[in-house]
Amino acid sequence: MSARPGTDRTPDARPALGGHQDLFYTTSNTQHLPHIVRGEGIYLFDAVGTPYIDVASGAVVNNLGQGNERVLAAMAEQGRKLTFSYVRVSRHEPNRMVADRVAALAGPGYERVHLSSGGSEANEMALKFLRQYAYATGQRDRTRVISCVPSYHGATLLTMAITGEPEYEAVYDGMITFSEKIPAPLAYRTPDGISAEENARRTVDALEETILRLGPEKVLAFVIEPVGGVSTGANVPAGRFFADVREVCDRYGVYLVFDEVMTACRTGTFLAAHQWPEARPDVVVLAKGLGAGYTPLGAMLAPARMVDELAGLTGFNLSHTYNANPITCAGAVAVLDELVERDLLGNARRMGDHLRIRLEELGKNSPLVGDVRGLGLLQAVEIVADKETKATLPREVRAPDRIRELGLRHGLMLYARQQNGGRYGEWFMVAPPLVITEEEVDAMVDRIGRTLDDFTDELT
Ligand code: PLP
Repeated sequence: MSARPGTDRTPDARPALGGHQDLFYTTSNTQHLPHIVRGEGIYLFDAVGTPYIDVASGAVVNNLGQGNERVLAAMAEQGRKLTFSYVRVSRHEPNRMVADRVAALAGPGYERVHLSSGGSEANEMALKFLRQYAYATGQRDRTRVISCVPSYHGATLLTMAITGEPEYEAVYDGMITFSEKIPAPLAYRTPDGISAEENARRTVDALEETILRLGPEKVLAFVIEPVGGVSTGANVPAGRFFADVREVCDRYGVYLVFDEVMTACRTGTFLAAHQWPEARPDVVVLAKGLGAGYTPLGAMLAPARMVDELAGLTGFNLSHTYNANPITCAGAVAVLDELVERDLLGNARRMGDHLRIRLEELGKNSPLVGDVRGLGLLQAVEIVADKETKATLPREVRAPDRIRELGLRHGLMLYARQQNGGRYGEWFMVAPPLVITEEEVDAMVDRIGRTLDDFTDELT
């Protein structure tokens, strides 16, 4: 067969695209992943009954663990009452109930809540909302968005455009317009060995320089994960970072968006934004833990002032068919009631502190642990070949894959990643369900220790 015109199959024409195993169920990608048939609490079980601790709550989703009867009953009951009613032509109580609970937990400045079906969609909504607001209020040139490298904001084309993953640019350049990127405020892997505080300051300076270069009247928003998710392995910016970012955004009228798809409910407060009150992001985006794996759900939160003004000027164009599905909303109401009544944010703080101490002990004893970082029950462990130089293991070792595979032998379901082909390091997330107990944390860390010991043996 003759080659398709315009084809170039040289290796550098094929970026790695992060090496995800996706859902096509080809023979090559179904063999080695465990097939999960059942879940209970923090455990997942495969077809022969092997239990795995869900170390990363899936992808930081299953906040309540598996099989929460209250959530399941609420969804079933709602389904019998009202299955679906379209958001553009009707309203229903479960939608109002989720919005009221989220707004109450988020506090002043986030009175209005628009639901989506997931994180990417909610990030798109946030940017469309801000663009519609800017357009309606005479700021018509504001179209440019600034975000960080590395970062992750989703899998739709717009959210890939703001995601800081250069490999995307190799594939999609010409198809989408990529946002302006500035270096993320990394605290561990800092350039030239500067301190975490200095590196955070560099990000702020880069933000201001980029705004000035683009023209302040053209910049719509700066989007950032307040604590990194898988993009940076739970990076926590140091020093005055959020106060400085707020100051720069205020100086040029740029909206600040916190992508809290992964961080909401995780860090010990409902929003990670609550940990830095000086940040006051204009818009906050949630997903993952909001539906806790029982139902696909995301949300964008904005101040009543902006939403009500835009409603009066032009109205909005934001929603998708499945937004605020009543069964989803009923599930989320029960998830949020469980979160509050069982004080799971408090448990995230208490168990997060205990987990951190245990992981740091483990890090001291393992030659492979370069860093342990995060907040609450959103932690990550960075794997290095050399603690002094922070050098990563050779690429052919496939450290994230190998750790995940060895973890399975010790009854762990791990979520391990590298970003940008390992240029920003390699890590695995430690973000178990918020219902985890101290004994379960200890059992999980013991198994992580044995997994790392096996990996060390394998490398020597
Ligand atoms: N933003 C962040 C910070 C995320 O971690 C994710 C998912 O991992 C997304 C956005 C995308 O969310 P979703 O996969 O629900 O579209």
